[in-house]
Amino acid sequence: MKTVTILGATGSVGTSTLDLVEREPDRFRVVALTANCDVDRLAAAAIRTRAQIAAVADEKCLPALLDALAGTDIRAVGGASGIDEAARSGADWTMAAIVGCAGLEPVMAAIEGGCTVVLANKEPLVSAGRVILDAAARHGATLLPADSEHNAVFQCFDFARPDRVRRIVLTASGGPFRDFTLEQMAHVTVAEAVAHPNWSMGAKISVDSASMMNKGLELIEAARLFPVPHERIEIVVHRQSIIHSMVDHVDGSMLAQLGQSDMRVPIAHTLAWPDRMATPMAPLDLAAIGRLDFEAIDPVRFPAIRLAREALDADGARPAILNAANEIAVAAFLAGRIRFLEIAAIVEDTLERYDPPPADTLAAVIAVDAEARQVAGARVKDKAV
Ligand code: NDP
Repeated sequence: MKTVTILGATGSVGTSTLDLVEREPDRFRVVALTANCDVDRLAAAAIRTRAQIAAVADEKCLPALLDALAGTDIRAVGGASGIDEAARSGADWTMAAIVGCAGLEPVMAAIEGGCTVVLANKEPLVSAGRVILDAAARHGATLLPADSEHNAVFQCFDFARPDRVRRIVLTASGGPFRDFTLEQMAHVTVAEAVAHPNWSMGAKISVDSASMMNKGLELIEAARLFPVPHERIEIVVHRQSIIHSMVDHVDGSMLAQLGQSDMRVPIAHTLAWPDRMATPMAPLDLAAIGRLDFEAIDPVRFPAIRLAREALDADGARPAILNAANEIAVAAFLAGRIRFLEIAAIVEDTLERYDPPPADTLAAVIAVDAEARQVAGARVKDKAV
């Protein structure tokens, strides 16, 4: 019996994780579930799974959670301390599926428990890569990637012989605007940006996929997770999202992981690892899929990839600034305050204006993140439509 905690249980990844966990009640037992403020969904999941703890990050939502869980023996908690309690609940396996750097401190709290921490939440690893990896090593925690690309690489990567790896190739669907001209991209709506052609995901990552900042964040995430020089991590557009990424070796052999575009596949891999578990996925029908296409990314229409690579090359505080500015710009776009192409412009502008020394502690990363948000926020006001 594996005990499970899900941080961000009400979101897209959290719901997929719950789906798998609830299919095998003899194999998994839920300890804690968290949300920001979706009390209905959180309480329902906590009652269904007989969780011990349910936590809302937004303290204002705690009274509603207490009401919803009245008469049960589930402990309802709220605010940063409530999320911290859930993250430290001592589960064998913790899914980190909060969106954005809001997940950073909960991830660190889970790591300090020394259990297996599964990272869907990529932003903390981008902003605080070294801090997180050092903490995992110190506390004996195992980090497993749930992001489909990194999970694919993880499944193909020979950690005993990293020097025999020639390249990591991350695949990208290209997002909903892969065939749009720059002129068309200038006028896209929020609804168009969140309508991903292959994946069903939360709003923030959907916009990141449309701008391809998601792939930029994933480039940094891959550089953190796999011992390969980052100039040897490449990205290719693969529209069908069937190959989730590849590892190319010095002898010319390239290994790929294939699967349906459903997060339950990589999540199941991490849930059962090092074993395997069944999922409801039908086998891939390769004859029906017919073809797998690959193409280069257009750096002009998708400047986010260049910005991420530059941030990775410079490292220090740059990835944290890139991520924080992007979170602010995406939130502004989703709120209808800026246009789509201004997202990358605001990120670039923030990186130009703010260049602090490297942040090598959790507190320093949090301070850089906060300052970068201020700088980016000021640009949002200038650009507001
Ligand atoms: P969603 O927006 O669907 O869900 C986010 C979750 O985090 C919800 O449970 C939400 O609670 C909670 N949350 C939001 N803000 C806060 C906060 N300030 N403090 C605590 N909890 C908060 O996101 P996704 O599931 O799409 O993505 C989650 C993470 O996984 C992201 O980092 C994303 O990049 C990554 N990822 C997602 C994939 C996907 O397929 N969706 C694929 C690969 C990676 P509430 O519901 O109450 O708002």
